[in-house]
Amino acid sequence: MARRVQALPGPARTQGFAEAHPGVFAAINLSGGRGTTLAGRTLDERGGGGDTNFGLILTKEKPVIVDNDIRVRKEFLSGMRRITRKATGLILHTHHNFDHTSDNAYYHKQGAISFGASIVQQEMEREFNAGIWVSQMAGRLLKVEHFDGKIGIAPPVVSFDEELTVRYGGRTFQMIFIGHCHTKSDTVIWMPEERILFAGDAFTYRTHPVVRIGNILNWTKTLDRLRKFPARQIIPGHGPLPPRGNHCLDEFKGYLTKLRNRTAAALRKEGTPVKAAKRVRMDEYRNWFRAPLVYVNALKMAKELRGKA
Ligand SMILES: [Zn+2]
Repeated sequence: MARRVQALPGPARTQGFAEAHPGVFAAINLSGGRGTTLAGRTLDERGGGGDTNFGLILTKEKPVIVDNDIRVRKEFLSGMRRITRKATGLILHTHHNFDHTSDNAYYHKQGAISFGASIVQQEMEREFNAGIWVSQMAGRLLKVEHFDGKIGIAPPVVSFDEELTVRYGGRTFQMIFIGHCHTKSDTVIWMPEERILFAGDAFTYRTHPVVRIGNILNWTKTLDRLRKFPARQIIPGHGPLPPRGNHCLDEFKGYLTKLRNRTAAALRKEGTPVKAAKRVRMDEYRNWFRAPLVYVNALKMAKELRGKA
């Protein structure tokens, strides 16, 4: 009988606005994990972790926010109002997914200006035209069904191809397109003076990543690039705030590397990606949020290794 491998530490179950640096807040897991359920099945059996994170940065002008989600507008605004009474000035996007961009129209109406890589705009349009913009988020406890056919998309007003530096309200934000990892539109936001990196979903802390439309092989290489930022604090797209410094990336790279190696070994034994994925165990990560994603993540990995994804 196989020996049960020891579990790596699980994530802290935090929720709400955490001040990562004076005036720089990470809004963690605002829905309390309701967005991490799939088809009525909770992806985190202990309930309550790993939902989308956002950013709130106070400046001498209006506040800047990183990403937004129409489904947690109330939670975000009530947390924000306890910190500032000012309306949002700028929105910066880490990628195009619904849970990071779906409330742009609301902030645009208040006069906010949004920024994102050109491919954020293209991917939003592609998903909207394919009719999957809302439906891909369906079936979770964090309801989305009532928005279907009722909301459009509001892509970033200002776009760029590789890199854009925004100086606003006494702060500097460098938006850097990092290529295909979690999605085709992955971008990080580096604040060089504060040494804070908003990594978007290119980095999920102690939370199994969603790799559905990702490129895992490229992702591992990109993590080495992110490791070179002399970050004092990295803010993940999902999961609690990690310890200071950039070592937290190593743990996540370890996950992706093990996923690749174990899937490659399973593929050598089994004929098809489906059979191989069923063999892949990632038991040491069983305490991380969204642990039931292991099978679909291994399946995606197997397809990539076979050159079919
Ligand atoms: Zn996300």
